[in-house]
Amino acid sequence: MIMDGMGDRPLKELGGKTPLEVANTPNMDKMAKEGINGIMDSIKPGIIPGSDTAHLSILGYNPYEVYTGRGPFEAAGVGVDVLPGDIAFRCNFSSANDEGIVTDRRAGRIKKGTKELAEKINGMTIEGFEDIEVIFKESTGHRAVLVLRGEGLSGKVSDADPKIEGKPPKQIKALDETPESQKTADILNKLVLKTYNILKNHPINVERESNGKSPANIIIPRGAGEVPYVESLNEKYNIKSVCIAETGLILGIGKLAGMTVIEPEGATGGVDTDLDSITKTILENLKKDYNFFLINIDGADEAGHDGNLQEKLEFLEKVDSVIGEIMKVPNIYYILTADHSTPISVMNHSGDPVPIVINGPEVKVDDIEEFNERSAAKGGLCRIRGSDLMNILMDLMNNSEKFGA
Ligand code: ZN
Ligand code: ZN
Repeated sequence: MIMDGMGDRPLKELGGKTPLEVANTPNMDKMAKEGINGIMDSIKPGIIPGSDTAHLSILGYNPYEVYTGRGPFEAAGVGVDVLPGDIAFRCNFSSANDEGIVTDRRAGRIKKGTKELAEKINGMTIEGFEDIEVIFKESTGHRAVLVLRGEGLSGKVSDADPKIEGKPPKQIKALDETPESQKTADILNKLVLKTYNILKNHPINVERESNGKSPANIIIPRGAGEVPYVESLNEKYNIKSVCIAETGLILGIGKLAGMTVIEPEGATGGVDTDLDSITKTILENLKKDYNFFLINIDGADEAGHDGNLQEKLEFLEKVDSVIGEIMKVPNIYYILTADHSTPISVMNHSGDPVPIVINGPEVKVDDIEEFNERSAAKGGLCRIRGSDLMNILMDLMNNSEKFGA
């Protein structure tokens, strides 16, 4: 179970303690007391992980090989069946005027109607590149994903996002000298212009404008990446795995790793998420024949990015009850950790190691009594890397093979 961004640093306003040291988390502490504790660098000491690269590393993949950008994972996460070699992008629905100036990068934070708009973009053709398949799907809010499929494409292209309003979309450029990158940039530049022509008079936009709202009339791609080949997690470790997560990014990693992916109802990826629904989903699936679960709960990361200490403390206390419920299930190895720290003082991820505890039938219980960054560092597991974790778990499960005779 990965509590996204749970780790933190000592805070002045907490008298030099971390949020985990201060929050009232009896179930996490019980886990620490009955388990073996340590700290973990999800990639390497001092390297600041993204949630995506951290999860890849924890699942035993080398993120320096597998990670080609956020686009492919987001696209897989919203349910596009991406194939190795596809080029995937994250996109915004934005607003543009007739002069081609972006007037609102998030199209008035549009909530409804993007499915209908996306259907018009999906399957569009680009003049001169009729052999290239354009796959487009809406995500939450103003977000969407774009996938280009065909011969001679590359993920080495720049973003179209102008980052500020009042400017046209940026010209997309090849980031290397190859004809593939040039071709991909040419396709995208045509595509961006064409999306405006397709969307500007769509009834949804006509209605938005008549209500004084910004239209969602242009698609702005960024975060290009070539969809990597990811070895199936089930085959790699001889397991039957399921990924229960809230965000498209983590669900996309699960999907590309060949896991069954489940997004619990009411999951928002924020501190307002429905933790009862998440608990129910986990417990229901524990009755099925999966033998490996990756669970990601995102709220602590959001609170960290917002620099909101109160919210982080409250969320840690709330999420503690989820752990209490799962711990009642007998005969499972249970790992509680984070993918990275999102310190309140940094308001972003940091390279600090995160606390980790492993609980289960045959672990060597240590003397640690509480679950937090400082106690965990004195535990029996010592300091490990994310890439060690699957090996340690598989060994405990008697599910790995001997190296040598
Ligand atoms: Zn994260
Ligand atoms: Zn984050």
